[in-house]
Amino acid sequence: MIYLDYQATTPIDQKVVDIMLPYFTEHYGNPHSNEHVMGWHAAQSVEDARQQIAELINADSDEIIFTSGATESNNIAILGTLKKSVYNHLIVSEIEHKSSLECARFLANEGAAVSFLSVNQDGKISIDELIKSLQNTRPLVSLIGVNNEIGTIQNLKEIAQAVHENGGLLHVDAAQMPLAQDIDVVDTGIDLLSLSSHKIYGPKGIGALYIRRDIQIYLSPIFHGGGQESGLRPGTLPTPLIVGFGKAASIIREEGASDRERMRHLINLLYTELHKRVPDIRLNGPSFDNRHPANLNIRIPCINTKTLLEMLQPDVAASTGSACSTGIPEPSYVLRAIGLSYQEAEESIRLSTGRFTTEEDITLAIEHISKQIKILKDLQQ
Ligand code: PMP
Repeated sequence: MIYLDYQATTPIDQKVVDIMLPYFTEHYGNPHSNEHVMGWHAAQSVEDARQQIAELINADSDEIIFTSGATESNNIAILGTLKKSVYNHLIVSEIEHKSSLECARFLANEGAAVSFLSVNQDGKISIDELIKSLQNTRPLVSLIGVNNEIGTIQNLKEIAQAVHENGGLLHVDAAQMPLAQDIDVVDTGIDLLSLSSHKIYGPKGIGALYIRRDIQIYLSPIFHGGGQESGLRPGTLPTPLIVGFGKAASIIREEGASDRERMRHLINLLYTELHKRVPDIRLNGPSFDNRHPANLNIRIPCINTKTLLEMLQPDVAASTGSACSTGIPEPSYVLRAIGLSYQEAEESIRLSTGRFTTEEDITLAIEHISKQIKILKDLQQ
């Protein structure tokens, strides 16, 4: 199996597994048990991991709370801020992950002020449209920093400046960001930021929310319990997952830049060679110098990519990036938002590489994919 679906999830790095294992069997103390050594050890391990996450984004560790993943982080950031009511207008783009979009729809149904920004064919929002929607309110702007389907990288520094000049806060869904670029919340001007461990070679079921220290008072908890995580996310912290997430973050700090260079090369190879064999394929979303280095989203005219993906089993794992809601599969709303027709969206496929993808994998994948496309095209004639 050639795995080309790293944006859906990444395998855990073996170095991460190794560091986690003793926390299941030996160091199993509750990090909130503050009356014995087992608890102190677990608590210290959690704090060390918190520091590793903070360092990944240039934050301080008291600005990080642990959650179950980016879905929960997005919910706490958006619902928690709007619940407090100091910020009373939510602005999102049309190509957010469902976990933000559904928060926006929920709030709109409840009668809150919610605006949806359109995007251009590269998936970028318009600063002018943003500035217009910011005026005369106290907005929380929540944007996906790097898109999970088409790899668009928003210009967050310019966006943050516009948001702050108009009295708003900026939340960034950064689930896909660490593999695409370095993150510096201070330099960029980000107020809240969501992370997910399983997108960065860590375990599933753990994530984090960065909340700038001085804006923490503007959030209300959306769950209630024992007051952990600054009262914003109650519940016993899963020490093994947190330790793994911390290690995954520290590996990205060391190896992220070289990983990205390798990804750029592999994605370039994949596209160029596929294009040679299937000249009518088209790139969806931004150009290569302006997108997630490990993301490729292409349209193959006249090919239904759901059928193609089935034919590729069990050799290649990729995805259409389509959202399956209420059991009825529909083509990607992200591709529709950048201007593709329903049919064009159905002809599209996302291929994403990662740390463990080799050049040989890419060569084999090119053969498998182009062969199945040819079979499908021949059938249509
Ligand atoms: N945001 C983005 C951009 C994502 O890609 C994902 C995962 N597909 C999420 C949020 C949700 O993350 P999690 O699986 O950690 O809840």
